[in-house]
Amino acid sequence: MSTTEKLTKEEQELLCKMVSGEISLRKIEEFLGKDDSAKLRRAFLESEKNVSLDHISTYTFDSGQVGKKNVENMIGAIQLPLGVAGEIIIHGEYAAGKYYLPLATTEGALVASVNRGCSIITKSGGATVRVFKNMMTRAPVFKFNSLLETKKFYDWVMLPETFDKIKKTADATTRFGEFLDISPFVSGNNVHLRLGFDTKDAMGMNMITIASEAITQMIADETGVECVSLSGNMCTDKKPSAINAILGRGKTVVAEVCLSKSLIQETLKCTPEAMFDVNYRKNFLGSMRAGSLGFNAHAANIVAALFLACGQDPAHVVEGSLCVTEMDFSDDGGLICSVTLPAVEVGTVGGGTSVATQQECLKLLGVAGAGNIPGENALALSEIVAAAVLAGELSLVAAQAAGHLARAHARLGR
Ligand code: NAP
Repeated sequence: MSTTEKLTKEEQELLCKMVSGEISLRKIEEFLGKDDSAKLRRAFLESEKNVSLDHISTYTFDSGQVGKKNVENMIGAIQLPLGVAGEIIIHGEYAAGKYYLPLATTEGALVASVNRGCSIITKSGGATVRVFKNMMTRAPVFKFNSLLETKKFYDWVMLPETFDKIKKTADATTRFGEFLDISPFVSGNNVHLRLGFDTKDAMGMNMITIASEAITQMIADETGVECVSLSGNMCTDKKPSAINAILGRGKTVVAEVCLSKSLIQETLKCTPEAMFDVNYRKNFLGSMRAGSLGFNAHAANIVAALFLACGQDPAHVVEGSLCVTEMDFSDDGGLICSVTLPAVEVGTVGGGTSVATQQECLKLLGVAGAGNIPGENALALSEIVAAAVLAGELSLVAAQAAGHLARAHARLGR
């Protein structure tokens, strides 16, 4: 049955006005609540495009909340299959214990692969995980008329008292966020200021964009220099970039596990030598020859599935893909395996984290909402992401070392 048949008389009249162009898709909310507005937009699209939109009409989250914070012109919801991998033992500074990993995906074999990695990590005693850096960045750009003006501005930025003024300005815009760093980058008569913040339990892009705007206003007041763009792309947000791979963005996290030779042979059905070989020739040589910024097998797969499940910004999978996977021999002939993720951009408050379905996944991991100490839940989530990526990397590298990759996909029906 099409949505059009379920409309009240008043809604039918509004639909006619939408079709005639008198009321836009956006303006319909001036007449109806969020759910009914979504229904009418669906009805409009169904009649305009001659399609049925029945499946997207069902959802359990609060459309009032979602419509205010997460989406405009809502017409419903898509569904993604959600699987679980684990348990995985994690020895992090913030995430410590056994975890079941919620993974939202339509890629068959992904959950099974991560599950296998979790199993070998847990049998090996668990993954050790540490966060090495924690700084979200925004980089406004300023232009000048001459090199002398550029240098004058650069020198002003480098003054200790300028740092203090910028910090005071930024910290006044947020209860939780904390200004940490300013790094100027010059190109000709342009200066990009890479501003760094500890955003605690928020991923922080909204938080620090607001803080950065206040900073640019303060700079304009103090120096007369106007900002060209609040984001000058040296941040770098949602684009593959060497700066994030080198300096990090969000959390820089490393996860490690030591696998014994016997466990690799029994569980992964290959040898440490074969895994080392695949990792070296694929993840290092192949990535290097391809000019890749990520030296890994499929880190983005795991980051994407966890991010979708847990309400993270899916565009930040780009930064999550900048992972370096290492495998080296241990003294006893086993393998020391690690993943280094320079830019894990995650939050447990704000953005998509409050959507009911995504909240449940964060609760499953024990990291929903604000931490008892602000920031510790987001740090814990970043450690979980790194451990999950390690599980995925081990499993795929081992599958390729054992020549099982195509067979596993065929067995699982794709
Ligand atoms: P947000 O939805 O703006 O919410 C974060 C706010 O939560 C903070 O500003 C903070 O208020 C408050 N908060 C409460 N408890 C907190 C705690 N324990 N730790 C930290 N903050 C706490 O979230 P966001 O992470 O800043 O931004 C995420 C959203 O930005 C996503 O939807 C993403 O898609 C979007 N995004 C925006 C841009 C942009 O340029 N604006 C770019 C990319 C993505 P106080 O500030 O008062 O402390």
